[in-house]
Amino acid sequence: MMVLILNEYVNPKSIEEAYSLFLENRKNYIKGGGAWLKLTIKSAEKLISLDNFNLDKIIVNDDLIEIGSMATLRQIETNRDIANLYNGILSKACHNIMGINVRNIATIGGTVMARLAFSDIYPALLVMDTTLVFYKLGEISLVDFIKNPTKERDILLSVKIKRKEGIGFYKKVATTALDFSIINFAIVKVENKYMISVGSTPYIASLAYNAMEFLNKQSKITSLEIDEAINILLDEIKVSSNTRSSKDYRIGLVKTYIKRGIKKVNADAS
Ligand SMILES: Cc1cc2nc3c(=O)[nH]c(=O)nc-3n(C[C@H](O)[C@H](O)[C@H](O)COP(=O)(O)OP(=O)(O)OC[C@H]3O[C@@H](n4cnc5c(N)ncnc54)[C@H](O)[C@@H]3O)c2cc1C
Repeated sequence: MMVLILNEYVNPKSIEEAYSLFLENRKNYIKGGGAWLKLTIKSAEKLISLDNFNLDKIIVNDDLIEIGSMATLRQIETNRDIANLYNGILSKACHNIMGINVRNIATIGGTVMARLAFSDIYPALLVMDTTLVFYKLGEISLVDFIKNPTKERDILLSVKIKRKEGIGFYKKVATTALDFSIINFAIVKVENKYMISVGSTPYIASLAYNAMEFLNKQSKITSLEIDEAINILLDEIKVSSNTRSSKDYRIGLVKTYIKRGIKKVNADAS
């Protein structure tokens, strides 16, 4: 097991102080839950805690759910309002990650900032029109954050999800319950429009814009339209092999679960 050699653990009094410390040295890290950091880095000069800033709250308004960056995956999984949003796709995505011990530690902030290609959370967040609130940068969409990785360092304060009425479908495919995803999917139907996201292809999750546009133009969705949407999706989303799965197997999973997901959201919506 890798041991993290740490020079100093700091508990700043303000976010500005945390931010300044973060910028001081490339070997200073913001700590979310620290679960991923501990697995992936060998040494740190300073580990900067965000514990003083009340960032672990989940605030629910009529039209918005704002999840503080220090909220754990377990808090999200067990939050009733999140469970009621799009058939609980985000709760399901959290539930599928390791055991409760890891989910009690891992935070949404660390999850977003780690940019994991196999992330089970990104597909669910992407289809829910999620935005991220950063200390310096302000609010940006998750789509932009994923598409345009910047070298600038910032502190994620919260994750905002619009609260809309809609139907959702979520699926993680993995060899065993504790494994990383071979592939994962999220689909929602909201205001009669589809949002579709695929992750761990093995590349980082993205929305299937062309497939969504095609489906959203159709007056009727039968198996023919779904098959055509899947072909379009496979043209726009790159799928490859890695140690977890072959490209062909992933393509087979796309065909099965996108079809199943669209049928499910249509059936539940009617
Ligand atoms: C054993 C294990 C198995 C896992 N299995 C899965 C899995 O199957 N599927 C899955 O989707 N995920 C999995 N994960 C990842 C997990 O779900 C979290 O996404 C991951 O642990 C990151 O969350 P954290 O709070 O631990 O982040 P940390 O380790 O604290 O931080 C991760 C990165 O984000 C930065 N960071 C943290 N918070 C902030 C912030 N507020 N602002 C700016 N930067 C920040 C840190 O500096 C670091 O670079 C697994 C993790 C572990 C440890």
